[in-house]
Amino acid sequence: MTLRELGVEAAAAAAMMAEAARLARTVQVDAASVRAKADESPVTVADFAVQALVAGRLAQRFPADPLVAEEDASALRLESGARLRRGVVDALTAFDSTADEATVADAVDRGRGEPSARYWTLDPIDGTKGLLRGGQYVVALALVVEGAVEVGAIGCPRLTLQRAGAAEGGVALAVRGRGSWWMPLAGDGRLSPLAVSVIDDPVRARIADSAESAHSDRARQQRLLAALACQAPPLLMDSQAKHVAVAAGQADVLVRFPRPGYQEAIWDQAAGALIVAEAGGRVTDLAGRPFDFSTGRRLTGNEGVLASNGRLHEAVIAAINRVI
Ligand code: AMP
Ligand code: MG
Repeated sequence: MTLRELGVEAAAAAAMMAEAARLARTVQVDAASVRAKADESPVTVADFAVQALVAGRLAQRFPADPLVAEEDASALRLESGARLRRGVVDALTAFDSTADEATVADAVDRGRGEPSARYWTLDPIDGTKGLLRGGQYVVALALVVEGAVEVGAIGCPRLTLQRAGAAEGGVALAVRGRGSWWMPLAGDGRLSPLAVSVIDDPVRARIADSAESAHSDRARQQRLLAALACQAPPLLMDSQAKHVAVAAGQADVLVRFPRPGYQEAIWDQAAGALIVAEAGGRVTDLAGRPFDFSTGRRLTGNEGVLASNGRLHEAVIAAINRVI
């Protein structure tokens, strides 16, 4: 399979996520450049630079499509944001020679589109806390049409898949009805198929969960592991790198019990969901409902996340019903 055979959107998404992953790798994020957003989550030079870059590329390639991205440029527009603006432009210059401090906030705000019949959704840095901590983080882009994900691409600067000759970093790509693939960042653009594990005994299942204990209800997670009698410790990983791990068979199940009142953002789920599904897995919420990406910026019609290799899905839903 080649990128060209997968269509213009998929080829563009993979190229953009490879470029964005390379950009993210070049940014030295220091504590001084981290800003706290209204919800206390961190945002960095890397978040803004990736969003400006991808929003610009999308505007060139698909000018009619809205982009629904996680960040907005308010921190860049502040008078006190001069250092941040400079840092974002410095990070961007090698990838976009037209970047400048006067227009960079507008470039970021191209991502303030609204979900519609056809839209792209971007998480410029998913797992910012992982980035800051030396853990996993990704850049994630998806094309959603009529509430369903058509293309998902996740750039993974720090992920190494356990396979022959594997190097660190790659892009996971999925196209609805066609499959999921891995494209090493260091390679020549060749794609290799991703496939979920074949484990069907919950006792042997490797369960992936967020590395941030504040992002999931660990007490319910512990009860689930006990109900399934899982022997392996959970795989704690930031970001949609977890979805790629499930799609590659390195983990068997991903469960996210939300904290009370939290609703998942579309950019945290869309690309990862298609990559797992097209690798042969299954993705639903905790009640077994498929995700509905037509409800706006948040998945208000769903609660929590269950992504699995498919074979384990029903057993995990049954166990969830016993523990909650
Ligand atoms: P993860 O590394 O799987 O925890 O995913 C990181 C993403 O979780 C971030 O991009 C946030 O958008 C999102 N997030 C932030 N706060 C919460 C929360 N309280 N519960 C669940 N997810 C959150
Ligand atoms: Mg995120």
